Amino acid sequence: MDSVGIGLIGTGFIGKCHAVAYRSVGAIFDAGPPPHLEMVADVSQGAADDAARAFGFARATKDWRALARDPAVDVVVIATPNHLHREMALAAIAASKHVHCEKPLALTAAEAGEMTEAAEAAGVRTVVGYNYLCNPAVIHAKDLIAEGRIGDVVYFRGTHTEDYMADPEVPFSWRSARDQAGLGALGDLGSHIVSLAQLVVGDVAEVCADSATVIAERPTAGGARRPVETEDQAHFMARFAGGAMATFEASRVAPGRKLYLGFEVNGTKGSIIFDQERMNELRLFEAAGPAAQRGFRTILTGPDHPDYGAFLPAPGHGLGFNDLKVIEAYRLLDAIGAGKNPYSDFRRAWHIERVLEAVVRSAETRRWVPVAGE
Ligand code: NAD
Repeated sequence: MDSVGIGLIGTGFIGKCHAVAYRSVGAIFDAGPPPHLEMVADVSQGAADDAARAFGFARATKDWRALARDPAVDVVVIATPNHLHREMALAAIAASKHVHCEKPLALTAAEAGEMTEAAEAAGVRTVVGYNYLCNPAVIHAKDLIAEGRIGDVVYFRGTHTEDYMADPEVPFSWRSARDQAGLGALGDLGSHIVSLAQLVVGDVAEVCADSATVIAERPTAGGARRPVETEDQAHFMARFAGGAMATFEASRVAPGRKLYLGFEVNGTKGSIIFDQERMNELRLFEAAGPAAQRGFRTILTGPDHPDYGAFLPAPGHGLGFNDLKVIEAYRLLDAIGAGKNPYSDFRRAWHIERVLEAVVRSAETRRWVPVAGE
């Protein structure tokens, strides 16, 4: 293969990030055959043509199925609303394409399992858009924990709150419709914090949850108001398979919070704090040395932290959100070369769907619920 043909479906918020990432990843990382932007699809030919012009795709179509089976497309990137992920991924897999799918992977854990098994049976590589797992600061937190620098992990406190739907006048969109979004804040934001917990601590085994829709109705394009079908906020207690305890919270109606995706991990010998709004920093406390000199210290990421150096030679200058998508694209391209999935593959995302499903069941039944096995 001289070059990897990229086919992107969906050119909204995150579709643009994918286009930017695949356009630049070959210049930033040496990931084998460089990718090229082969084809883009959106709902109308006009929208697809506009995106092709803006991002530099060779061809544009309003028919995503044509993109998924096109012989010049090697990787299908799915950046569409959640209810379309399953059908698009299965079509791409059936045509032996590698798949880069946005999160949450599917509407249900059963769908995620079906997609995982289809991809594995076809032998194609997969990655899911849990881009915060690509942050060098997060990888460093994971490594410090794995090295035992904070001792045995006893507690994970995770938050992902934003305010993008705090205004009751934000119109009804696919994010408010159960048949298109599946879940609300839990699927959109809770899935990210579960993915981070899974990386730095391990699998969640059991949950006890509550959730609420705060803004009951939203305006539609026609001027009417339509009931919101997905939750605006949720929280849950959890136990990891390894025994550590946790709390998680997710909200899309938390005024002032823009990307407050963070966690604090407490161990028997120290703590680590991460906040995505300060994404180039990690705070580490180690219970060592004279008590009077102890305290959290701030580590700024730099070339000594994996993947940072591909972008910049100097520490503390900082990466941004879009750079995380570049790293995610690199991980998939690298995995294609290696013939082995990256960490954040469909199987890993399937587990996140099972955690979320247990959270929903717990909130409904008001009991602790175990996370289902595969
Ligand atoms: P969006 O509404 O901004 O964009 C969706 C795009 O899909 C639009 O361009 C729309 O026209 C297109 N689309 C819809 N139906 C289509 C079809 N049948 N064929 C072709 N194109 C179609 O949504 P978004 O915010 O970009 O979200 C898309 C996905 O990305 C969701 O699954 C969301 O959860 C995820 N997302 C992930 C992150 C992240 O940090 N990883 C951030 C935002 C969104």
